[in-house]
Amino acid sequence: KELLKVDGLTVRVEDREILRGVDLTVNAGETHVLMGPNGAGKSTLGYALMGDPRYTVGAGKIFFDGRDVTEASAAQRAKAGMFLSFQAPLEVPGLTLSGFLRTALEQRTGGRVKFGAFRKELAKAMEVLQMDPSYADRDLNVGFSGGEKKKSEILQLLMLKPSFAILDETDSGLDVDAVHVVSAGIREYQKNENAALMIITHNARILESLRVDAAHVLVQGRLVASGGAELVGEIGARGFEGFLGR
Ligand code: ADP
Ligand code: MG
Ligand code: MG
Repeated sequence: KELLKVDGLTVRVEDREILRGVDLTVNAGETHVLMGPNGAGKSTLGYALMGDPRYTVGAGKIFFDGRDVTEASAAQRAKAGMFLSFQAPLEVPGLTLSGFLRTALEQRTGGRVKFGAFRKELAKAMEVLQMDPSYADRDLNVGFSGGEKKKSEILQLLMLKPSFAILDETDSGLDVDAVHVVSAGIREYQKNENAALMIITHNARILESLRVDAAHVLVQGRLVASGGAELVGEIGARGFEGFLGR
């Protein structure tokens, strides 16, 4: 079942065209990998899909779950089941991790979230991510190490259960052990057979333990190659330059 369909998308940032006609289809349950050199527009695609107002859609359409969301607000898209994990997660003093997650969950589901059940599920997800339970009551990301911030992003993923999640370099800057923990969290998310993922990464290592259904190479705002998981190895061997002019 088609979940996300991107059709001829062009995106401008501050009057510069960054994405120059991107076509992409992600079906329910699929994990896609997006690779490409620095500055290619990978994060821009993530932000544009989420409806960040700094990213202006020039041409093209974004369909999600059968609806045209090209003009929808970021909040509407989140409610519809879209999720973006940030490359640089924000620190929010005065808001606990637990409080943030519960509010986000209530916004997502449009109903009240029972405290007891919520805390139980939170504890379980934190265990998967090997996070100390005390972090639930700490201010969101404040004083968290780089690795802890990334875990806190994956914790959001596990608690909010979006139907489509974009993970933007969630593995960058992590040590080997943290990469293992983060991939365990992602595998947990993949257990839901309807949940889809787009993983933006520079690192084939995190993909070794994950199921990957498709891979794409973005260069200068265009998808220059798309294929199956085998493409990840090809990129490692040939570099991105090898895909130019194909
Ligand atoms: P990638 O994630 O592939 O490294 P980005 O999407 O972050 O690439 O950036 C693509 C281009 O768009 C870069 O030239 C970057 O400077 C520019 N860009 C992205 N976001 C912004 C922004 N918010 N303001 C100004 N320029 C931006
Ligand atoms: Mg970058
Ligand atoms: Mg980026």
